[in-house]
Amino acid sequence: MPRRPGTAAVRVRVRVPSKVNLFLAIRGVRTDGLHELVTVLQTVALHDAITAELDDQPSASHPAARRFMGLEFAVDGAGAVPTDGSNLAVRAARRLMEECGIGRASQTDQPHQHPVTRLRLDKKIPIAAGMAGGSADAAATLVALNQLWDAGLDRMQLAALAADLGADVPFCVSGGTAIATGTGTSTAQVLVRGAYHWVIGVSRAGLSTADVYRTFDDIGTPSAVEPDAVLQALRTADPEALGAALHNDLEVAAFHLRPELEAAKKSMIAAGAYGAVVSGSGPTVMGLAPSRLEAQRIADEVGHLFDRVELASSPAGGPEVH
Ligand code: ATP
Repeated sequence: MPRRPGTAAVRVRVRVPSKVNLFLAIRGVRTDGLHELVTVLQTVALHDAITAELDDQPSASHPAARRFMGLEFAVDGAGAVPTDGSNLAVRAARRLMEECGIGRASQTDQPHQHPVTRLRLDKKIPIAAGMAGGSADAAATLVALNQLWDAGLDRMQLAALAADLGADVPFCVSGGTAIATGTGTSTAQVLVRGAYHWVIGVSRAGLSTADVYRTFDDIGTPSAVEPDAVLQALRTADPEALGAALHNDLEVAAFHLRPELEAAKKSMIAAGAYGAVVSGSGPTVMGLAPSRLEAQRIADEVGHLFDRVELASSPAGGPEVH
């Protein structure tokens, strides 16, 4: 991170991983329509990156001038991501600005030059894929701007802001492997040993999380299944047991909306994966391979069933500041 002598950072880059739900059980629907769930989330080494940069004006690091801070946003990589204020990265930036009183004053109040923060998203995580891409970008933005603006929020405070932005965002701020309950925003890290090798079957057409939950409400049944077998496999570094324990109640809805996903999951297992599961609300199908080499072989065998296949390991840590 380059610094001018005597000034705060002017550029911060944060790499942030995607996630897989190793376990997801729907317990029921609350009166406000949100679902109560139990899920085990783990970061996967398929990353997006956020670069946050302050323009080169001397005023940019002055606390008074920051009330006039402007925000610019650009995306490199994926076409289907919104580039306006609805992008989760921009929403995260605005939330942090509101919290810290940055950019509060209208720039028209100040006829002279005002400082600008430029935010660039380098998009690699598949979109609307159940891999928390948007949530990861929001988390990376909070971490990057907290540092760039010297805002001084600790991880707990960032996690509280994150919860306002989406159910998966608090997990993406910490990363690692966590069990989440409630609507998914209460998270606790769990003990993990070993590394896990995934074949990631990506579909170009995403699935809307809202549609999948609506379909689940129509055709699915809340379950009482517990994540004990997943947690035990993670503790004992046992990928074969983890493969057998992978579970997602939302699969019934994803398979209803995209019947070909069920066949693709079965093909991954027939090709030698220890297990396979739809991640979150799908449509990504994740196959757990015995090794990196086996992952490549399985990918070659099932590649024709997907628009794209990626290989990645887990767990992948959390947001990394560069
Ligand atoms: P989750 O796993 O948390 O349910 P997802 O991986 O299924 O999320 P995302 O990739 O986060 O889904 O995208 C969901 C929708 O959010 C997209 O269709 C897109 O229009 C919108 N979106 C807003 N910001 C982003 C972003 N930074 N990256 C991806 N999608 C974004």
